[in-house]
Amino acid sequence: MHPFPRVSMTRRRLIGTALAAGSLASVSGAGRPLAQASGPFALPPLPYPEDALAPVISGTTIGFHYGKHHRAYVDNLNKAIEGSDLVHKSLEDIVKATAGDPARVAVFNNAAQDWNHTFYWSSMRPNGGGAPTGPIADHIKDSFGDYAKFHQEFATAAVTQFGSGWAWLVQDQDKKLKVVKTANADTPMARGVTCLLTCDVWEHAYYLDYQNRRPDYVNAWLDKLVNWDFAARQLGT
Ligand code: MN
Repeated sequence: MHPFPRVSMTRRRLIGTALAAGSLASVSGAGRPLAQASGPFALPPLPYPEDALAPVISGTTIGFHYGKHHRAYVDNLNKAIEGSDLVHKSLEDIVKATAGDPARVAVFNNAAQDWNHTFYWSSMRPNGGGAPTGPIADHIKDSFGDYAKFHQEFATAAVTQFGSGWAWLVQDQDKKLKVVKTANADTPMARGVTCLLTCDVWEHAYYLDYQNRRPDYVNAWLDKLVNWDFAARQLGT
């Protein structure tokens, strides 16, 4: 499997058609046609059917979250960059080029939210979660002491992010794993940090299933959904 940045590269319209079709064929049951709005970016296919994460996250939540919210970020990004030099850049480069630029807040917000959501879908899998095994388990132990301490730190970050945002497991430049949280559309990727996992803590991610009980959503996410294989593929050497 390719690490995440190469996955997102398949989304460029000019080079992406064959690869995207191939990736669709490989997730049997997803059955989702590639939504292609006008513009260089397309809504990427979900890695699983909409109801595959139920009952932890319902098909209704994923239907709105992916089909409405994520789609709107992609559509608004395409509108925001129309006619600008940004249409020739990768999604990652657009996020990095517009981060912190007050004149291009709308482009940044929609580009970063597109990237963050694509990363979030891959951070989850049916029957995931719990303590990892393999090299990522060694990294967790080295960086946090043990899995329980990581679990506590990640849950605390996700629950205490005030308002909308994201909790992340990242690998910093010193190769240590760290938990960070970001507000709204902000993403560690914009600062060149290697992201391993993310949990969306915007209310739209959990409100239909958990109402205001964000801690229940976060704990269920950690215990039943985390895709450790995806996180391991993002690790640097
Ligand atoms: Mn979201």
